[in-house]
Order: sequence, then structure tokens, then C-alpha cells
Amino acid sequence: MQKRIRRLAIICGLLVIVSIMTEQFLFFQQDSQHIQDYSGISALHLDNIILGLLLATIALLLFERRQAQRLYMASLKLKKHHSQHVQLWNKLPFAIAELDSHKAIHHTNAAFRQISTLHGVASIQQKIEQLFNQLEQNTHQHHPTILQQIQAEDAALLCLEWQLHHANSRIFLTGRDVTQQQVGRNGLSVAEKIIECTPIGVMITGPDKRIQYTNTAFEQVTGYDSHEVLGHPPSILSSGKQSPDFYREMYQTIETEGTWQGEIWNNKRNGDAYLEWLSISALRDSWGEVTHYIGMFSEFTAQERVKEKLRTLAYYDDLTSLANRTLFNERLQHLVSINHKKKLCVVFIDIDGFKRINDTLSHQIGDLLLVAIADRIRATCREADTIARWGGDEFIIAIEVSDSHIGIDTFCKKHLKSLKQPFLINGRELSITASMGVSIYGDDAHNIAELIRNADIAMFQSKKRGKNRFEIFSPAHHEHLMENMEIENRLRVAIKENQIDVHFQPQVCKESIICGLEALARWHDPILGQVSPQKFIEVAEETGLINDLSQVIYHTALKKFKTIKVMSPALGLSVNLSASQLQDVNLVTSLKQVTDIRGIDPASIKLEITEDVLMSDIDQSIRNIALLKEMGFQVSLDDFGTGYSSLSYLKDLDIDEIKIDRSFVQSLTSSKRNKAIIEAIVAMSKVLDIDCVVEGVETAEQLNRLVQIGCTSFQGYYFYKPKPSNQIVELLTH
Ligand code: C2E
Ligand code: MG
Ligand code: MG
Repeated sequence: MQKRIRRLAIICGLLVIVSIMTEQFLFFQQDSQHIQDYSGISALHLDNIILGLLLATIALLLFERRQAQRLYMASLKLKKHHSQHVQLWNKLPFAIAELDSHKAIHHTNAAFRQISTLHGVASIQQKIEQLFNQLEQNTHQHHPTILQQIQAEDAALLCLEWQLHHANSRIFLTGRDVTQQQVGRNGLSVAEKIIECTPIGVMITGPDKRIQYTNTAFEQVTGYDSHEVLGHPPSILSSGKQSPDFYREMYQTIETEGTWQGEIWNNKRNGDAYLEWLSISALRDSWGEVTHYIGMFSEFTAQERVKEKLRTLAYYDDLTSLANRTLFNERLQHLVSINHKKKLCVVFIDIDGFKRINDTLSHQIGDLLLVAIADRIRATCREADTIARWGGDEFIIAIEVSDSHIGIDTFCKKHLKSLKQPFLINGRELSITASMGVSIYGDDAHNIAELIRNADIAMFQSKKRGKNRFEIFSPAHHEHLMENMEIENRLRVAIKENQIDVHFQPQVCKESIICGLEALARWHDPILGQVSPQKFIEVAEETGLINDLSQVIYHTALKKFKTIKVMSPALGLSVNLSASQLQDVNLVTSLKQVTDIRGIDPASIKLEITEDVLMSDIDQSIRNIALLKEMGFQVSLDDFGTGYSSLSYLKDLDIDEIKIDRSFVQSLTSSKRNKAIIEAIVAMSKVLDIDCVVEGVETAEQLNRLVQIGCTSFQGYYFYKPKPSNQIVELLTH
């Protein structure tokens, strides 16, 4: 129509022009004869022009009106369209929001606004950003999708499916209430409805381990549609990052325990590897046959991986990657809380003499050895055992055994044997042994604290009974420990208040002459009474009180010896050194200082060390003995014959005296063997030019035999018992 009006206006205009031109032509042709008509012709010409212009104006006016009418109609139509569009958006059975590339909302429909109100207090913009962030993690999907569960006003659970659609620069966020679809799928039961809506991926296989069912979350995480995986084995997701052994052990655990759970790397449909926490359970029928395997998993997001890393730091030992105390306690608590057909035991392992390795070969080697020890313990254990590093060189294991004693026996022997095999660390072969202690849940321990404490006490007993062995906790161990604790407490007071006394036992040379004294510590506690030196020195060694105690004893011994020496200036004094004293260079030096302070010549002091102390670190002992000798002290080897009695090291040590242990003397008259040993020691000492003292001589018969063998120096009750210093002074006076 618009074109037609315009055409009409143009035709009118043309008609006017043509008529003007025709009139003009005729006018020139009749120029001469019709000159007088000129004014008439011009008037006609003007009429035509005015008519043409009039027609053109009318046409244009008509056109403009038409145009205005058209615009009005168009705007009416647009308004109608817009309201239809809004109505249509609002009628859409799903929520929709149109956003620009900055995630700013342009339009939302009623459904969207309604759903947004269910999300709680946050603004729609905030909610959209939250959804966006979640959806952006699923960019491997064509239309990134997430499922969300929210609670409707009537408290019913809604299952929403959010999707992102990109169209040019516009982004559409759609949300569908898929509760009904999920519920309707395959006529699902209530439990299945939950499975469909849950954000946890679910995969069910038959007993042939072929996939029979996957839920929506499975599709979202893996990117596979259900129909693409049905009938396939779960290995369709395999990333190849786990070894065949891993899967073998996993299925073995499912067969035996019924469930398995752990971390696993799988591949998505697009080939991206992802880490998931997977839990698999076997469903069995009433005949015990597996009918289904149910796998449930959730993907670790970047944030969760950070959380997992933090969890690892909080629960695992950094050096060995074994569980730490916290995790062990948690697992043990769980084990204790479930019903056991088997016996639950805790095994404490402490590496013998590990400090020596650390001190002599460096902490770096020590660390490498600890890692190797942890690996070996792990390899010797079963998958079901819970292993942890308790701290330092201590490890702890929770095990379940059918028969407690046979099971523990087998377990401990297996570990002792395995740990005894040499370790190759930095090209160096290192050998260690371990002491183990076991406690059994329900026998003497009724909670995890008791279980661990008892295993520790039993381990301690293993150490005391010679190391490289195991002990099962018994209440006697506990009593012993309590007794030691009491001694420790009282000993602290005794040291502080200088309650430790020293008695002296004379040593007799030829013709019954007193040629030396042995200083022996004595302690009478107001509560505990007389405590034997063996007992309190052992406690002092274990509790670290030995340094302070030794200082007190040494000071007292020298002070009293100084008074005695006035009566007999040539007299020598023997002082016992404890195990740790010989290993401690500072203590060796402090002995010299005390001796100097008391104004006593170190040459008159014989320091007694036992074979066990010597052998615990022979290299260090050789160095320290050399140091003592350099300072002028004499050195005596006490209780000879009870320890390693290796004659070979005697030639390497600069020793002045050996003291044959009283155990040989006690059975001297009845045992030919012991007599032979004493004969050999005496003969050897003569060859090596080392003095030889026989301890524990109690009878004249023993003395006679010893004299016959060739012994010349004696100590024992037959001559004198240990006496206080004033009695020794009296003795020397007469
Ligand atoms: P030891 O160094 O071998 O001391 C000799 C022990 O044998 C003493 O026991 C002494 O009383 C005992 N004895 C001596 N003659 C006889 C005898 O004829 N028959 C019997 N049955 N026993 C005899 P004591 O005083 O009970 O000391 C036991 C151990 O305690 C000592 O053995 C020594 O290893 C340790 N000890 C004692 N005093 C000290 C000390 O001041 N420092 C350190 N580090 N250890 C000490
Ligand atoms: Mg001694
Ligand atoms: Mg002795």
C-alpha cells in the first residue's frame, strides 16, 4: 500500500511535467500566429502546475498518514508481542534467566524468581553467581548441568536441574524441576528417587561386574550418558593410574570384607582424569551369592583436593606417609566400637638402639632408615591392619587375630624376622632389631588409652628382657611400672634433698691387706624404705635422672673418700659408672672437674664400667675410655663374664682391671665349667697384664679355690660387707 501511494504521487508529478512540456512545445510551434494568445496559454500551463502540485501533496499526505498508521499498528503489535513473550516466558515450565557476558541479569521469568526465593536469603544475583561457579566446573559437558536439591515451601524435596546455554553474547541459565521426571523414571521406588536426585554418582553392576544402572550424577561427573556405559565393565572409566594389583586387592577386600573405599583416579568421557572418593559394597542374596556391586562416588573438586591435602598433613606422618597418632587413635576408636568376632590387639614396635644410628650416621640416614622400616612393616602387614608411626622410632599397629596367642606369636615373629634382615641405605648395609609389646582388647584393656598404654609397657619389658623380642602385656608389667613411677617420684626428692648416701666395700689383696674400696650408693627413703641401688639406678637411667644422681653420688663418694684417705693415703677408690655416663662425653669431663675440686689425684680413682654398657656402642666406648685414661683415671671392667665376654675387644681397650662376676664364684665348688672359666680369665689377664679382682667371695672354701687358681685380689662378704665411711675409718685405724 505504502509503495502504491508513493507510485501515485510520482505519476501525478510526471503528469504535471508532461503536460507542461506539451503546452510549451505547442506554444513555440504556433509562436508567430498565436502571439496574442500567449497569456491564455500561460494561464492554462499554470493551472496544470497547481493541479499537479495539489495531487502530489495529497498523495504525500496520504502516504504520511498511512505511514503513521502503520507505525502505530506496528507498536501495538510489538506491545502485544512483548506481553505475549513475557506471558510465554512466565508460562514456561522451567525457570529461565537471560544474562549478559558479565553475568548481570537482563530478564528472568516467574518460575526463576519463584525458585530463587526458595534459595533463602541471598539475592538472586548472588544465587546466580553461585550456580555459575558450580556449572563452570562442568565445562566438559556441552550444556554444563548440575543437579540441586532444595526444600520447597511445603518442605517437600525438589530436584532441580540447572543448565547453561550460550547464544551469541547472551547466556541463558535454565532450571528445571526434574523431581517428577526422576521419580517417574522406570517407576522408581522412594529409595531410587533419592538415588536419582543425589549429587553422588551411583553405578550398579551385576555379579558379572557389568554396569546395569547409573544415576544422573554419574552422567554429570563422567560425561557419559547412561546408555553408553550400560553393559560395559566399570573399567570403561579406568585412567590406568592404578596398578592391576590395586584392583585385585580392592576386589579381594570386597569379597572378604563386603566393602571397600578409597581414592581412585578415573577418566571422564573427554579423557580428563579426575580424582574421586569411591565406596563399593557387595550385595548378597540369602544364599550369600553376590547379586550386585554398588559403587558410589563423588569427585574431588580443586577445593576438596586442598582440603584433602590438609587432611593428609593432619592425619599422616610426613616422613613415612603412615597414619599419625591422631588418625591411629580415630581408627582404633572405630575398631573398638564395632563388634568383633576376632580379638583386637595393639602392637607397639620400638627400634633397638636407633639413637645410635642417628647420632653416628647422621639424622639424614636415620630418616631414610625409618622410611625403609615403615615400608617393611607395611609390606609385612595385611591390608586390613592399621599401621601408624607413633613418633621417633616407634610404630604401632592394630590387628585382629582369631586366636590371640597363636595369632600374636605368628605376627610378632614374622615382624621381628623381617626387621632383622639388613637394610640397604645409601649403599650401606644397616642391621637393626626391634622390641615389641602387645596388648589385647578386652583382656586387660577396656578402652583405647589402656590398649596403647599396655602395649607400650609390654614393649618396655621386651627391651628390659634383652631386646629383639616381644612381650604380651600382663598386669605384673603394670605393677612394675607403677612401682617404678613411685620410685621415680621419690628419687627426684632424694636427689634434690641430698638423701643419697655412699657406703664403701673394701677390696683385699694378698695377706688380707685392704688395698682399695668400692663406692656403692645407698638410699633409704622415708616412705619406700631401703631401695636397692640396682633398682633406683635402673629407674634413674630410664627417666633421665641418672646425670643428676651420678653427680650427687660422685660428690658424696669423693668427699667421704677424702676423709678415709687420710688414714691410708695409698688407698684407691672404685666408682661405678652408669650406662649413659660412658656414652656422654660431657659427663666424662665433669668427673674430672669434681675430682679436681676435691683435690684428689685421678690416678687413685678406678671407674667401673660393665660389659653391656661397653658393647652397646663399642666405638664410642673406646673413644671415651681413651679420654678418661688421658685425664689420668683408671678403668675397670665390672661383672666380667656376664655379658658378651668377648676377649677380642680386651686388646683394643686400655683397661687396668677386670672384676670376675660373683655368679662364677657362687658355683665355683659345684661347677667344673665355672672353675675353668675363672682359670681362663685369670690366665688371660696375666698375659694382657691386667689386674684381676674376684667379686662375691663369701666362704673360706671359695677363697682357697681361688687362691689355688692364682687369684690375688678379692671383694666379698667373707672379708667385708659395704660399710659407712666412719666404720671404714675405724677399720683402717685398727
Ligand atoms: P657391683 O658394682 O658389681 O657392686 C657389687 C655388688 O655386689 C654390691 O651390691 C655389693 O654389695 C655386692 N656384693 C659384694 N660382695 C658380695 C658378696 O659376697 N655376696 C653378695 N651376694 N653380694 C656381694 P650393691 O651395693 O647392691 O650394688 C649392686 C649394683 O648396683 C652394683 O654392682 C652396681 O652395678 C650398682 N651400683 C651400686 N652403686 C652404684 C653407683 O654408685 N653408681 C652406679 N652407676 N651403679 C652402682
Ligand atoms: Mg662395681
Ligand atoms: Mg660387679
